[in-house]
Amino acid sequence: MSLEEQIRNVEREARQLDTGLEDRRHLASLATTYVDDFIERSKSLRTFVDAPIEHLKKMMPGETGERLEHLLDVIDRDVNLNGINPTTGGHLGYVPGSGIWTSAIADFLAAATNRYSGVSYSSPGAVAMENQMIRWLCNITGYPAKAHGNLTSGGSIANLTALQTARDQSGINSSNIRSSAIYFTEQVHHSVHKAFHTLGLHEAVLRTVPMTDRFRMDATALRAMVANDIRQGLRPFLVIGSAGTTDTGAIDPLDEIADVCEANNIWFHVDGAYGALFILSDELKPKFKGIERSDSVIMDPHKSLFMPYGTGAVLIREGEKLLRTFSHQASYMQDTYGMEDPSPADSGLELTRHFRAMRMWLPLHLHGLNTFRANLLEKVLLCRYFYEQVGALGFETGPAPDLSITRFRFPEQNTNDINQQMMKLLHEDGRCFFSSTMIDGKFWIRCAVLNFRTHLQQIEVALQMVREAREKALKN
Ligand SMILES: *Cc1c(COP(=O)(O)O)cnc(C)c1O
Repeated sequence: MSLEEQIRNVEREARQLDTGLEDRRHLASLATTYVDDFIERSKSLRTFVDAPIEHLKKMMPGETGERLEHLLDVIDRDVNLNGINPTTGGHLGYVPGSGIWTSAIADFLAAATNRYSGVSYSSPGAVAMENQMIRWLCNITGYPAKAHGNLTSGGSIANLTALQTARDQSGINSSNIRSSAIYFTEQVHHSVHKAFHTLGLHEAVLRTVPMTDRFRMDATALRAMVANDIRQGLRPFLVIGSAGTTDTGAIDPLDEIADVCEANNIWFHVDGAYGALFILSDELKPKFKGIERSDSVIMDPHKSLFMPYGTGAVLIREGEKLLRTFSHQASYMQDTYGMEDPSPADSGLELTRHFRAMRMWLPLHLHGLNTFRANLLEKVLLCRYFYEQVGALGFETGPAPDLSITRFRFPEQNTNDINQQMMKLLHEDGRCFFSSTMIDGKFWIRCAVLNFRTHLQQIEVALQMVREAREKALKN
């Protein structure tokens, strides 16, 4: 067989990847019909289901294709009908994600046109869109024009990116790491510790700063610790504050921490993965005073902008420092240099990446900011309502919530056992999903309101579940 014949033979099969117009329409309609149906069904589905996976684990891709109808059945049963369902407003566990539908449309547009958003040269428009989103996030944070950032897959990579910038731009390396000090509270998110290990920062002097009774960093204690460490010959170089901790939703005193950092030339990083985007609400904005004085901040649009998983952001007040940390030259990239708009590949870890700006840009423009502001304020008010009602039922609660996370447990005289049993009963019920945590050795049930489909109706169901589970737990 001639080379040409071989090519033609294999071409027939290869062409199957290029789905034709009729098939595209058919497949797209099957997919959207499924999604429409699933979202409608979700209204009456439990939020948490502990069901077995039947087909998926036995399936491997075969040599010939299968029908989408069959694959959608598997997706429905084995993926979408077990675990936590974030398309219901009953998701009140961890930090709930939701996934607005208009972001999914944007994802479809982004993936089907597959613009390369890593470097400006290959898609100036995609990069301009990303930079525009970064600029908008900088604006709402109160960062200056020189600030820059990167859209990441989430908060963990955003923290890693910020801390690498802090490390490199503060001149921390193997020769001085053991005399360099980092400060945070015990409520800092575990992704920060992961980042420490990735970056070698776990070898620094790690200082746990005490908290005030509302689980906020004690800035007076921080000031004293920094002064003491300087006297001991250490170099304090990084303070990590939280704008909304995962356990309790607490916001550290950002302005006071910024005072300490400015006075001592310390990099101030704010982990706002969960909380920082609440700054969009005018009513809540004052809580974040001082965030604009930080050196870096992270936030998760896949949490507090209700977008699908895989959307995080890191912002660096002096954007130059981000570019200096992450731009590397390579000869095979020579065509791409010298563009006006900074490329995402020069401001983060990834080169090739999902074109994730689209899933932010489209919904923000389609819905307008007021809708997002209203959702954020509503979630905070709903959390306050839950906190008041659950307190009125006689449960011990934490302090009044700063944002949209609160917690409750049977009062002091009871042991952890009854609270664990209560958690189990709530999971078995499943109409809404709560998660739990340990604080100071005590078992707490958490309620985190951040799904765009959570409204007063869902919170009333949640309270009804709590009442019913409480009766059962007390009977046993
Ligand atoms: C969720 C969260 C993170 C981690 O973000 P991912 O998007 O899950 O990687 C970091 N910090 C805080 C405070 C968070 O709530």
